[in-house]
Amino acid sequence: MKRHSIQTYRRIIQITVAITFIILPLLNQLGFTFIWGNFLNIHIGDLTLSDPLAVLQVTLKNQYFSPRLLMSAGIILIIAMCFGTIFCSWICPFGLLSELVHGLAKRVLPNTFKKLNFQISGFKIKIYILSLGLIFFFLFCTRPIINQLSMPLWYSQIFQYLFIQKHISFAVLFVAVILFAEFISRNRLWCRYICPQSFLLVIAKLLNPFHLKVGYRKEKCIGNKNNNPCQKACSLSLDPRTLNNLLETECNNCGDCIVACKKLGKALNFQFSRHFS
Ligand code: SF4
Ligand code: SF4
Repeated sequence: MKRHSIQTYRRIIQITVAITFIILPLLNQLGFTFIWGNFLNIHIGDLTLSDPLAVLQVTLKNQYFSPRLLMSAGIILIIAMCFGTIFCSWICPFGLLSELVHGLAKRVLPNTFKKLNFQISGFKIKIYILSLGLIFFFLFCTRPIINQLSMPLWYSQIFQYLFIQKHISFAVLFVAVILFAEFISRNRLWCRYICPQSFLLVIAKLLNPFHLKVGYRKEKCIGNKNNNPCQKACSLSLDPRTLNNLLETECNNCGDCIVACKKLGKALNFQFSRHFS
């Protein structure tokens, strides 16, 4: 029997989540209320999961720790502490769209169309964006403003507006413009350099040195500068063989490099240990 790769399972989960958030507003209107909400707050029975960034803003602004609110965000942060930013690679619908657009650009754009490749840390840029957002929030706002930059939230709200309030949200244009910029630059700009949602997830995973990560065994590697399927497979333009901070803060454990490597030398694998082996 053919064994499916981790890539197949990942796509199935991503597509299932993306479709769920399209039909959820329709189901809610028909009376199904076991699951309702969006990527700011999703309610599944008695369980509520909240965007940790929104919870952080509300908690800091009100200077009040609500155990219920902290638990709703804590579950997501604990998952990130154990498994890294798998929210981005397995759950987030914008991550799926961004990956598909990146794959399309690779196929259809001529090679003469140069890929924009910044050798800078996206994590550092996110620190600046988040800091500015927090300052603005504290000075002028009462509601979590940084979530206006949440692509998964915009994605879910597009269908809430469409099916419940019967109008097309401005978010459609916003998402389309970002995806078009990613297409022509052949670079996943939003996820690597801007998205503040992923910031706290990265912080959570860095707190646990034993979180799931891509390990590299040099002795098994038969690739070289020109034969590097793992690097080519990475939609975030990372090289999983260079074990540096860039990989640590920006890799989302999608596993695409591991699948590409399996066809060659099996030098990459997921592992929990502190040191890459
Ligand atoms: S970086 Fe942001 S937009 Fe990209 S996949 Fe992660 S949560 Fe979604
Ligand atoms: S380094 Fe590998 S696991 Fe990490 S984002 Fe790139 S392809 Fe995915």
